Amino acid sequence: MFRRKGFIRPGDPDIPPALRRANELMANGDYPAAAQAFEDLARGAVGRNGPRAPLLLIQAGRMRILAGQVPLGMTHLQQGLGLFAARGQWQRLNNNAQRLMAQLTQRGLVEEARQIETILKASLPLGFVPNRGLAPEKGKRILPATCPGCGGPLHGDEVEWTDEITAECPYCSRAVRAE
Ligand SMILES: [Zn+2]
Repeated sequence: MFRRKGFIRPGDPDIPPALRRANELMANGDYPAAAQAFEDLARGAVGRNGPRAPLLLIQAGRMRILAGQVPLGMTHLQQGLGLFAARGQWQRLNNNAQRLMAQLTQRGLVEEARQIETILKASLPLGFVPNRGLAPEKGKRILPATCPGCGGPLHGDEVEWTDEITAECPYCSRAVRAE
């Protein structure tokens, strides 16, 4: 992928090559290899109880499903969502589950989408109020579809907004500017 020189500012974190590689495999449509790469990354993150473990598990699950290995993919998705729940990250749990339900339904995996919905309903605390996570007055800002640093997918409701036009990539922590 073309990357503008000078866009990486001093202080940007180093981007793990294995993460960049996993996202490249995903972008190239090599889903079995991408799944393996995300599983390796997720295993490390789970072992460290790292903040990215749930998202990496979800990526591994999505790649297994795209590779046609649906039951294994669903196991990863359930584990990833379960980690969000165990950490009390309810908004992230809800946003990711909703996105997965839409993606599964789109692929005709209606029963699998229903399983995710069941997990979500069983996990969310009473009185949970969804918050789409878009920063106020900048909901119209458009993030690049993928992180210019690591190539990971970016969603406005998933990133942390550090100011009105800057969000942090949830995979590599790089600052990404919205347009
Ligand atoms: Zn990134």
